Amino acid sequence: SWLTAPEARAVFTLLDGEEGRTRAVGGVVRDTLIGRARTQPDVDLATELLPDEVVGRAEAAGIAAFPTGIAHGTVTLKSGNFLAEVTTLREDVETDGRHAVVRFGTDWVRDAERRDFTMNALYADAAGRLYDPLGGLEDLAAGRVRFVGDADRRIAEDRLRVYRFFRFAAGYGTPFGVENEGFSAVARAAGTLGGLSAERVGAEMKRLLTLPRIGWVLRLMESIGIIALGAERLACAEAYEEGNPAPTLAGRLAIFLDAMGEGGLRRAWRLSNAELLEAGQVLETIDLLARGAVDEARYRFPQAIGDAVRLLCLRPGADAGAINQQVFERKGISVPRFPVSGGDMVRIGVSPGPEMGRILRKLEQKWIESGFTLERETLIKFAVKLHEI
Ligand code: ATP
Ligand code: MG
Repeated sequence: SWLTAPEARAVFTLLDGEEGRTRAVGGVVRDTLIGRARTQPDVDLATELLPDEVVGRAEAAGIAAFPTGIAHGTVTLKSGNFLAEVTTLREDVETDGRHAVVRFGTDWVRDAERRDFTMNALYADAAGRLYDPLGGLEDLAAGRVRFVGDADRRIAEDRLRVYRFFRFAAGYGTPFGVENEGFSAVARAAGTLGGLSAERVGAEMKRLLTLPRIGWVLRLMESIGIIALGAERLACAEAYEEGNPAPTLAGRLAIFLDAMGEGGLRRAWRLSNAELLEAGQVLETIDLLARGAVDEARYRFPQAIGDAVRLLCLRPGADAGAINQQVFERKGISVPRFPVSGGDMVRIGVSPGPEMGRILRKLEQKWIESGFTLERETLIKFAVKLHEI
């Protein structure tokens, strides 16, 4: 059986999976078919059962049910760490301008037709029987990201699909050029994306930027103005992932941060402070390396060194060969350790608190600037002075 987590099976069976009235859809089916491991075990389920029935059955079995999108027929079931988004088959009848008017039904083809790409309209029931109403399997196998129905119309309905197109192209597509049908439609819509919510765009971009090989996709996005890195950064983004076993989100974001600045990046994609901080540290590390401060970089940002070395191309003036050599030579040498502690401060009469923090930061700065040569006694003497002032 293909869904292995016991919680997943339990939920599936509960919802009449054996009868085929409930089927898994989307990412879990697509990734299982190509043998790709999933990062989270969550699944999307589509069902003929009405939302009330889903909630009723779950509660009778002691599984927590949350009406996360009840107006659209979506109930989230939680069993242990496992989450299932269960959505009742529906038709988007029409909109009254503000609300989608939905009608529940039992029509699986209609359900498939409102999805974005054929490879995302693949279903599997509890027994593992595949249901493929739109030829998604063939497209998936060929690496074709094909819109369901008329691409221009589907993009006009929801322009986020432009970003999703690139995300799925990078994750599942065979590299293509500007002649690609989906790309042509996406290119026609490129000028109309201004009103999209930054959260939704950011969520898709982050998933794209976490994939291993995206250089060719970034190039296509750049060519129609959806991103604006410039030719040099684009080449750097390609060099970054070449032969790199683990490109990181922070590394990719550092490239965009360099191009867009912190405010720009925050506005465009609503990044969290932690994400911006990490990307900023990669850039800081690059700048430290570029000016020869290899030990300081190793001391302050050990986690960013790997990415920074691969992204020296962001600073075309830096002698990447020489810097690489220096970093390499120091690999076996331990990173210097700051020789003064809070205990030392207490001994000279500084009590824990803001003052201690301030003095320790000053000492550390002085010590870094000395090239890690200032000794413990000298630093403590300096602390005594600072404390007296
Ligand atoms: P992943 O494994 O990366 O989560 P996924 O295919 O599950 O990929 P989701 O964004 O989780 O992608 O969406 C789940 C499913 O919902 C998709 O497979 C697709 O069928 C449908 N879907 C999601 N967003 C859209 C959209 N904007 N337009 C049409 N269908 C969508
Ligand atoms: Mg998903």
